[in-house]
Amino acid sequence: MNTRREFLQQSGAVAGTTLVAGAALAQVAPQSQGQTKEWYDRPMRWMQLAFVEDDPGNYDPQFWLDYFKSCHADAACISAGGCVAFYPTKVPHHYRSKFLADHDPFGEMTKGCRNLGMNVIARTDPHAMHQDMADAHPEWIAVEANGQPRRHWADPTLWVTCALGGYNFNFMTDVTIEIMKTYQVDGIFSNRWSGSGMCFCKSCQALFHDYSGHDLPRTTNSQDPVRRQYLLWRESRLFDLWRLWDTEIKKVNPNAAFLANAGGGALSDLDMTSIGDLAPTLFADLQARHGLMAPWSNGKNAKEYAATLGNKAIAGITSVGVEEAYRWKDSVQSGDEIRLWMADGVAHNLRPWVVKFNAKPIDKRWMPVVEKFYGWHYRNQKYLRNEKSLAEVAIVYSQQTAAYYGIDQAAAKVENPALGYYQALVEGRVPFDMVHDLLLDADHIDRYRVLILPNIAALSDRQCKQLSDYVARGGSLVATHETSLYNEWGVRRKDFGLADLFGASYNGKVDIQVHNSYLNIEKDPRDGTYHPLVRGLENATRIINGVNWVHVKTTTPQRYSPLTLVPQYPDLPMEEVYTTSTHTDIPGVFARETGKSRVVYFPFDPDRTFWDVLSVDHGAILRNAVAWAMRSEQPLTVTGRGMIDVSLWAQKDSITAHLVNLTNPMTMKGPVRELVPSPPQKLRVRIPKGKSVKAVKFLVNPAVPRSIVANGSIEVDVPPFELNEAVAIDIA
Ligand SMILES: [Zn+2]
Repeated sequence: MNTRREFLQQSGAVAGTTLVAGAALAQVAPQSQGQTKEWYDRPMRWMQLAFVEDDPGNYDPQFWLDYFKSCHADAACISAGGCVAFYPTKVPHHYRSKFLADHDPFGEMTKGCRNLGMNVIARTDPHAMHQDMADAHPEWIAVEANGQPRRHWADPTLWVTCALGGYNFNFMTDVTIEIMKTYQVDGIFSNRWSGSGMCFCKSCQALFHDYSGHDLPRTTNSQDPVRRQYLLWRESRLFDLWRLWDTEIKKVNPNAAFLANAGGGALSDLDMTSIGDLAPTLFADLQARHGLMAPWSNGKNAKEYAATLGNKAIAGITSVGVEEAYRWKDSVQSGDEIRLWMADGVAHNLRPWVVKFNAKPIDKRWMPVVEKFYGWHYRNQKYLRNEKSLAEVAIVYSQQTAAYYGIDQAAAKVENPALGYYQALVEGRVPFDMVHDLLLDADHIDRYRVLILPNIAALSDRQCKQLSDYVARGGSLVATHETSLYNEWGVRRKDFGLADLFGASYNGKVDIQVHNSYLNIEKDPRDGTYHPLVRGLENATRIINGVNWVHVKTTTPQRYSPLTLVPQYPDLPMEEVYTTSTHTDIPGVFARETGKSRVVYFPFDPDRTFWDVLSVDHGAILRNAVAWAMRSEQPLTVTGRGMIDVSLWAQKDSITAHLVNLTNPMTMKGPVRELVPSPPQKLRVRIPKGKSVKAVKFLVNPAVPRSIVANGSIEVDVPPFELNEAVAIDIA
């Protein structure tokens, strides 16, 4: 069976569409200005102005151009067309802003930005259409499962478009070509281009029937074979659309590209490895915190994109507004919250991008905040133009596990374990990356000493082989719960795909929602010592268990297990809350050493439970497992009190260690009220072999650092800092 990635790579041809695009356009394109090949890595700071319909003639372009200049922004994304055209379009039925008259706000901003030396990309949004187009092309309206054409959920005067048929493949291709020919922009960034949920229009019905021989599925269960075919068909159709637009763009300007608003982590719906192949640069669109979200989420998004985009530039989109479900699009959030979000993104190699909807700003409190942060970024960009991460630990994420094992519980079963491990490593100040599960080849993973598999349940035989090979080459693994118990399509195996590495086999049963169960802390019976996996818990006797437990049998005898199970016993009535089963020999962890590699397997879910309960004991065993598997010190260690998110990057002639201060009562639920200065920290960075330190400086604090170079490392005292600090080390 093909993997999803192989399938998507094979389906490269643009199928079933007739290109009429561009035929009606007679306008001669102006010469491009200052466009050099491969511009994608140039911009360090982006600005996005997303017009609303009444902006033309009513906003002040010079106000924005002056602001962009004062921020040292070197690239801009400006709204051009799709749902509403902000330039004098000639494409039939391309709805012009009612306020457009003889204005061309897209053109004037493009010209102004270019005069500032900025790269410019055009934003399109094809997800909604106006009534005149609906009258002319009713077949382009998305259709509900009940057969009704779909009104727009937020603006009932509009209709939702079908993403997979003629609207995108023909009409939006015409719009794309017209924008390219008229303005010669560096790319087209399309928002909400991939549809707004499943569409049951005649075109989708016919195309899917041609592809699969089936009617559109009426279930969302991806274990249903037709639903699975639908997911693959939709995805390949969207990548066909991506390639179509990119091809048409490059016919006009070979140095431009289609830049989709796409991507994300395990829960995102388009294969990130295909996105990584297609996109020359990309923009991570997680604009701010909402609900219960830690500020490190911006850095996490950066790592998820970097897993498949490698060294390509990735910008991190930050909204100045409150990004909650109630969608106050004209709002402004607290300045410290905006700064914290941007600082965590920059620490993890996102290039800042700030988006403002509505070019007639009401609340301008965000403007000096962004200007100041961008100014800091500009002055220090030499140390922010990273070439590679120096992290030696990585968390694996798996879209196929979310899609085919997690299904409608993917957030709880797949994302929460990753979030738990992520939180534990942030608390432990461990520098780490993320790795995509379809990129487990040596080129992608041999730079890491430890890979973490947080309930990566769905893995193919090939992926399991890649992990075994990695261990044979000396790499170490930490895996939890049902990792590898399912194949890539979410079908349960007879045994773990990684059973040999775990030294344990599946014993036929998984307990879920276990209450009042514990783990005993065990000594090595031979010498009475404690295993490093339980460091810090020596006095605990026992700690709480997780909540979900896989029954396993030991296949490779271990001398002892540092954790053993105390099975569930009654938690009510209080008189009955005791157990006679105070001790079992059922292992709570398998810790094996072969050659240079170490493998830790927890048959339960310490990571998911940690995200749920945040028990410090679970945090300790999650970090201890990584420390033991690592065998050596991290390339960056930061000691001191407080919660600090860290990273370590190499630039051309330097290394930069980032510290972002998350020590704040609002860290786990924003927005922050104020930034509270961190306690002082001591930092140690391993100097790469054969290199020596030429100079060291802080990028925030103007003081000269106190540092010592010894034993291949540099140690630096970091005084308290408010938002972030970065220690830049020039090496030769
Ligand atoms: Zn459709």
